[in-house]
Amino acid sequence: MPVTLADISKAQQVIRGVADQTPMVPSPFMSRLCGQDFLLKLENMQPIGAFKLRGAYNAVMNLPESVSGVTCCSTGNHGRGVAYAAAKKGLRAVICMSELVPKAKIDGIKALGAEVSITGTSQDDAMAESQRLVHSDGLVEISPFDDPFVIAGQGTIGLEMMEARPDLKTILVPLSGGGLAAGICVAAKAINPAVEVIGISMDRGAAMHASIKAGHPVEVEEVASLADSLGGGIGLNNQLSFPLCNALLDDVVLVSEAEIRDAMQVLFFEDRIVAEGACVVGMAAMLAGKLRKPKGPVATIITGRNLDMDQFLQIISGQDIQLGDRILAGKRYGAGRVL
Ligand SMILES: *Cc1c(COP(=O)(O)O)cnc(C)c1O
Repeated sequence: MPVTLADISKAQQVIRGVADQTPMVPSPFMSRLCGQDFLLKLENMQPIGAFKLRGAYNAVMNLPESVSGVTCCSTGNHGRGVAYAAAKKGLRAVICMSELVPKAKIDGIKALGAEVSITGTSQDDAMAESQRLVHSDGLVEISPFDDPFVIAGQGTIGLEMMEARPDLKTILVPLSGGGLAAGICVAAKAINPAVEVIGISMDRGAAMHASIKAGHPVEVEEVASLADSLGGGIGLNNQLSFPLCNALLDDVVLVSEAEIRDAMQVLFFEDRIVAEGACVVGMAAMLAGKLRKPKGPVATIITGRNLDMDQFLQIISGQDIQLGDRILAGKRYGAGRVL
């Protein structure tokens, strides 16, 4: 294994006092629906509003002293983590993103003192710009998912989950580039090999799902999604997160935009939590009956809260949502359901 439980334990020491050990709380509504404990690991409560601080901070702190600046491509949250870590270490940071990234995420990154470069309409465009800066400005690139220190940092979530609930049987992981899923697989399965880890993505533009099916990294077209943090490719030259996800994930399940919308409403109205579309894909798969009776206790990771509040208010109030050139019809949440 290119990333081991020992690497993840080391990362846990590095991020201590910076990334929080977030709580894992039961969702009474989801638990009743599943007939077993359904737990939420609340990474939306991290100082930057997303779990990405763990991997980004671990990677930046492990850079050689000679490095004077860093760059990355990002759908927003990794960039915020890198910006936060770089500021702590006094390094220059240039965060490359595409026009698909919500303004709230861009503002959050600028507020941390990082430079922002918006290029093109896809993660691939942002990645090309980041690689250009490596050559032109001598910056070191930190991949959002294909980096051993990033994967080890994200893996600390799996460590904390297994420490809090050693009886966990199933973990539902939002899946994009697979750094999170790879880290959680390594940590959870090293502690209990019987734990099942299921990756969940949106059903349009799910690069890791398409790559696992093909048996090698493939490109997919990136489209607007409520789960904007799950967009982008995995890199045709993927070295770590693809082989780890391919070997260790027990399954990958896809959910539709309507199912993501419904789950965002459930998380808000039943659990009173404000979170991004990317976070609720595990709940969405469960609610849509796409998981065959997962063994419980079941847990999912509420990965972040950095959403566009105007769009969130539209979703919650049942209005139509513009997604690129498509419209997702609005739907009001089932009134009067109280727990
Ligand atoms: C990055 C991100 C993910 C997916 O993580 P990967 O390591 O790319 O699979 C899920 N949710 C949120 C909020 C994210 O920012």
